Amino acid sequence: MRSRTIINLTFHGVGDAPESIGNDERDVWLSTDRFIEVLDVIKPVTWVRATFDDGNKSDIETALPALISRGMRASFFVCAGRIGRSGYLDAADLRTLVKHGMRVGLHGMDHVSWRSLDKSRLDREIHDAQRMIASACGAPVREAACPFGAYDRRVLAFLRVGGMERVFTSDRGPARQGAWLQARNTIRRSDDTDAITLTARDRGFSIVRTARRLAKRWR
Ligand SMILES: [Zn+2]
Repeated sequence: MRSRTIINLTFHGVGDAPESIGNDERDVWLSTDRFIEVLDVIKPVTWVRATFDDGNKSDIETALPALISRGMRASFFVCAGRIGRSGYLDAADLRTLVKHGMRVGLHGMDHVSWRSLDKSRLDREIHDAQRMIASACGAPVREAACPFGAYDRRVLAFLRVGGMERVFTSDRGPARQGAWLQARNTIRRSDDTDAITLTARDRGFSIVRTARRLAKRWR
């Protein structure tokens, strides 16, 4: 059977970024209004999948209620080393996400690039963190999102050993729905959704039209 082409979107924090958020993550925080606007646009679009990185507290305070009220599902990728820290999701939050049908996945231990790490660091970032997140959320962790979108063959091998069923990158462009490795498109506060417009080309007129509408609204 031919696997469907989809567009994965990556959200991060929503609202005002707390002081503790570094410059590398600040650019990807969206205002609440804009986030809600984006959700309303993608809600009826079956070929767009929403993911959230970094485990910010806004996942539970803003994103979850907005998703629930629209009947939408999403995947949330969290760092094990941040669980329960100020500004980030705690174990109770993770269980709440799972209870509402959201997936909780791995985004590492300390939010570092997984490329070029030695074996013991990779073990900690991938396998130890996967166990900690599963224990915190009370559900198996079978999806991963590479921090900073960085990966190589060794990283992918570690993820396979951990039994990951789906691995998300930040490579931009479309993805095959059933593929193990999934490209994603990060939504930045400065974006006009060029990525979606470009990558939606091969999905035909109606999709391009939807993408153009998205781009227009986000200007
Ligand atoms: Zn991240």
